[in-house]
Parts: sequence; structure tokens; C-alpha cells
Amino acid sequence: MNFSSKLLEAAVAEFSKLPGVGQKTALRLVLHLLNQEKEEVESFSKAISKLRNEIQFCEVCHNISDLPVCEICSAPKRDRSLVCVVEDTRDVMAVENTSQYNGLYHVLGALISPMDGIGPADLEVDSLIERLRTDEVKEVIFALSATMEGDTTIFYLHKRLKEFNIHISTIARGIAFGGELEYVDEITLGRSITTRVPYDSAVSK
Ligand SMILES: [Zn+2]
Repeated sequence: MNFSSKLLEAAVAEFSKLPGVGQKTALRLVLHLLNQEKEEVESFSKAISKLRNEIQFCEVCHNISDLPVCEICSAPKRDRSLVCVVEDTRDVMAVENTSQYNGLYHVLGALISPMDGIGPADLEVDSLIERLRTDEVKEVIFALSATMEGDTTIFYLHKRLKEFNIHISTIARGIAFGGELEYVDEITLGRSITTRVPYDSAVSK
């Protein structure tokens, strides 16, 4: 692309770095911003840099948070005996949207994927073990995507969690699940949480 302005070119280059955004789309977005009021564009860029600079990860569950301990972990009404293990913050949002779950979460940050060079050490596993040691957790629910990475991660975590006297269950998978939790509709996901099954019987089927 030949740009008539270095500034335009630089902005397009930045937008092109976003996932799924090619140069044409980037140019369209940049031209759209140019048509907006200066204040609009200012607040757009402020929101993004503020997000990056000020966002925190909850010290307890590692969910994205505005505070050192997130709103879910600090809510007195949540059932502290339940911990739902998920991959990332999108999964927390998906489960929360079902309104069928009142426990806490643990965000792993990734799934084990040897192909991508992601091993157990890249996941927030030690802090999960620590929570089980010190907190009043009675049940851990795996709500990971029904992919090879999800299965590998559950298998690994199940072995690590064996030393604890807690229930280990997994959301009813294989019904409408073919992949990522975030794409599952709320009713299906809500139902699969309420009808979760013990992990041992889930694998022996
Ligand atoms: Zn938290």
C-alpha cells in the first residue's frame, strides 16, 4: 500500500498487528477514527493505554481485575467450597453469564499444549495447589474446552490433585461441546455445570 502520509501509515501498521485485522481493514478503521471528533479518539486511545497500564490479575484466582483481589473472590456471598478451573477470563465471563454458578474460580492462563511448547509450568497450577492446601475448598470443577489441550490439562491436574480429599468433577462435556467454552450458549453451559459429573466416571465412560 502506498500511503500519502507517514502518520497514516504508522497508525495502519499498528492496527494491522491485531488478530484478524488485515491492512485493508486497518485502513478502514483508521479512516473511521479520523472522521471522529478529537475527544472521541482521545478517549479511545486513553481507554486502551489505561487498560494496559492499570489492569491487574487477581492474587487469588488470576482473573483480570481492577483490584488486587477480584470482585468474585472478595464477594461474601460466593460459595468458597467450590472452585471452577478455567483457561482464561472469557471462560469466567461465560460461566458467570449462565447465572448457574455461585462458587469461585481459578484461571490457569493457558492449557497444556506440547505442540505449542506450553507445559504445566506455564499454567497457574502451584497457586491452585496452594489454595487447596489452605482454603476451605471441597470440590474442584474442571470447565475446560473439549479439545486435546483441555483433556491433557485435566489429566495432568487430576494427578496433581489426588493427594487432596476433595471432589473432582468436570462439566458435562461431549453434548454440545466441540471446542471453546466461550462459544457454548448460556443454557447449555449452565446445564452442564449443574449436571457436572465426577471426573473418574467421566473418563471411564
Ligand atoms: Zn479472584
